Amino acid sequence: MPKIPVKAVKWEEIVDLSTRLSEILKEEYVPDVIIAIARGGLVPARLVADALGIMDVLSLKVEHWVMTASHTPEAKIKYPYKVNLEGKKVLLIDDITDTGDSLIITSKYVKENFNPSEVKSSTLQYILGSKFVPDYYAQTVKDWTWFMYPWNYWEDEINLTKKIIDETKSVELSDLETKFKENYGITPPIPLSKILDEMKRRNILT
Ligand code: AMP
Repeated sequence: MPKIPVKAVKWEEIVDLSTRLSEILKEEYVPDVIIAIARGGLVPARLVADALGIMDVLSLKVEHWVMTASHTPEAKIKYPYKVNLEGKKVLLIDDITDTGDSLIITSKYVKENFNPSEVKSSTLQYILGSKFVPDYYAQTVKDWTWFMYPWNYWEDEINLTKKIIDETKSVELSDLETKFKENYGITPPIPLSKILDEMKRRNILT
């Protein structure tokens, strides 16, 4: 069993999940405004906006999971702002709801500060046990997994590799490749040689 179960999600799977979510929304709730929860909700929100023909896509940045697969105790809106969405039906979109904190604080923030007529929430994936159940979601996840989304491959692989280096104190490529598979159960989509170069460029590794 991997220490942290990780799945590398492919672009085609993102398109499928976004299409499924869009189809549900066409039947159930067509909003006037979409609010993407950044950064994870940015790509799904843009795909759903295209499928539904929504022009008004805003974003709120929430900080919660700073390191892959480990989160800070409190979710926060990093750059709060106010806008008047009086009379508008709003839909929040995120990639996944895990603890549920991001959607809880965003939906509260939007209701209190943007004055919309209605706020609903949606995600591509919903992990059973989340404190917050989105109104609409494309897929239920029963067994907790870290989903490495295609817009996050570099960041996740860097963080997951860093965890191994901190633990083993080795930067030997073959050791890292073995440990990556052992700890996370997958072969990383971006070769670890490139990840090590990028970690040096970002001064994560000297
Ligand atoms: P939450 O814990 O519901 O507040 O999740 C906040 C954000 O962290 C999500 O929108 C994702 O971008 C990211 N995240 C949380 N859990 C996972 C997971 N299991 N796999 C991938 N990303 C996750």
